[in-house]
Amino acid sequence: MMSVKDLTIQFRTDEGIITTVNEISFDIAPGEVLGLVGESGSGKSVSAKALMRLNAGNAIYGPKSSIVLNLDDGPVDVLALRREKDMQVVRGGAVSMIFQEPMASFAPAISIGDQMVEQLLVHTNMSKKEAREHSIDMLARVGISEPSKRIDQYAFEFSGGMRQRAMIAMALSTSPKLLIADEPTTALDVTIQAQVIDLMKELVDEYGMGILFITHDLGVIAQTADRVAVMYLGNVIETGEVRDVIRHPSHPYTKGLLNAIPHLHDLDRPLTPVPGDIPSPLERPTGCVFHTRCAYAIPGKCDREIPSPNTMSPGHTSACFVAKEIHNNEAEAVA
Ligand code: SF4
Repeated sequence: MMSVKDLTIQFRTDEGIITTVNEISFDIAPGEVLGLVGESGSGKSVSAKALMRLNAGNAIYGPKSSIVLNLDDGPVDVLALRREKDMQVVRGGAVSMIFQEPMASFAPAISIGDQMVEQLLVHTNMSKKEAREHSIDMLARVGISEPSKRIDQYAFEFSGGMRQRAMIAMALSTSPKLLIADEPTTALDVTIQAQVIDLMKELVDEYGMGILFITHDLGVIAQTADRVAVMYLGNVIETGEVRDVIRHPSHPYTKGLLNAIPHLHDLDRPLTPVPGDIPSPLERPTGCVFHTRCAYAIPGKCDREIPSPNTMSPGHTSACFVAKEIHNNEAEAVA
């Protein structure tokens, strides 16, 4: 449904041109949840915004970059869209987005219902009456009680979990082909987080849409996604089926992210954070971008040469010179 190839994104700044996304590729199929995971500054949100052409005007897309949305009427070359009117297809039409903090996404002085109705009037042929009825139905579908009363309330009258549900209802009301969920559960407490994740899984099954699920938390990805792409400093460093990547992580950074999350069956196990900080995109390391924090780095090689993706198993790749050794050791440990 959505195919991203060799996507490079740079920004013109006062300090020079900075590269935030570097030749990444991924596909999302209908009914599939792809997790995009990495620390802040890894390029996840910039990549997602590119799918809706929401990056700032100083963004420069690399000459080989391609984003194609496949619709029933034919493919849409997203990066070739020029007019605001044409961009509506990827801005609330066939592609919708939900954000981390819905309080910042809903206009505070306009009722939830008026915002939902306005979106439907822009993107569908519904009358105002039909749009309101559909919005009430969508609020009910995401579990908001008394939706015909709630629809006339404002975002501040909803709890955090209800606001996120209302955001999901609004995002799904136009029946998008692709939903981009940018850290949708990070601001919620764990109980509500679990409810929102369950709700999203139900809706994928019901609507058959694809979801790009962005998070810094591999634990959340394990519960939600079919496949995962791990990003570091603008590069996809490991990708594969979630089960393969979590059981046999084959890149030192993915291993580091997994070591930093608690395991229910072994709560005494110490949590080990990935050492150091992600470098500034203004100071991208030479060679492998992870070499400044990597315990496996080979001096004289990793700081000079760029590793290509190695295939570990069908669909599972890792861009690391010692990926095969790490993969085999993980496989032995699991056995
Ligand atoms: Fe570490 Fe070298 Fe692999 Fe990069 S290529 S992750 S520096 S071992």
